[in-house]
Amino acid sequence: MRCPYCSSLDTQVKDSRPTDDHSAIRRRRVCPDCGGRFTTFERVQLRELIVVKRSGRRIPFDRDKLERSVEIALRKRPVEADRVERMINGIVRQLESMGDGEIPSATIGELVMDGLKNLDDVAYVRFASVYKNFREAKDFESLLGELSGDEAAEGPARRQAAPARENG
Ligand SMILES: [Zn+2]
Repeated sequence: MRCPYCSSLDTQVKDSRPTDDHSAIRRRRVCPDCGGRFTTFERVQLRELIVVKRSGRRIPFDRDKLERSVEIALRKRPVEADRVERMINGIVRQLESMGDGEIPSATIGELVMDGLKNLDDVAYVRFASVYKNFREAKDFESLLGELSGDEAAEGPARRQAAPARENG
């Protein structure tokens, strides 16, 4: 594994152990050339995923990017890291089980919103407000109404693959 700091190829594994939910192996590595420390994860990947952006552009699915957007939504919220990890794993497994491996970006957004709704209301509203790009206050009101309704109280709902959007 190439050192992300100095690009040396001669990095060493110092420690290797499964994550709490045993879905991945976390390896702590050190670079003997520059002393840099970093962590890598080994995970099951069932298939290659391609994200289809609104513009029609196709890019490889990036789990790290998904994790970062979820982390931003959850910043300073009291949610355990392994619950977040499980949610991300669940989203990725759902994406992997969809159709032909080409996923509209809107579908990923919907799955993240569903997941966050079950984890933390505040994070859900944060993510949704960015994702849905609210222009009117009433959008927020209807969302908050949704949160206090039956759906949020039922806990994890059985999900189906969201239909691909034709436009938007
Ligand atoms: Zn290095």
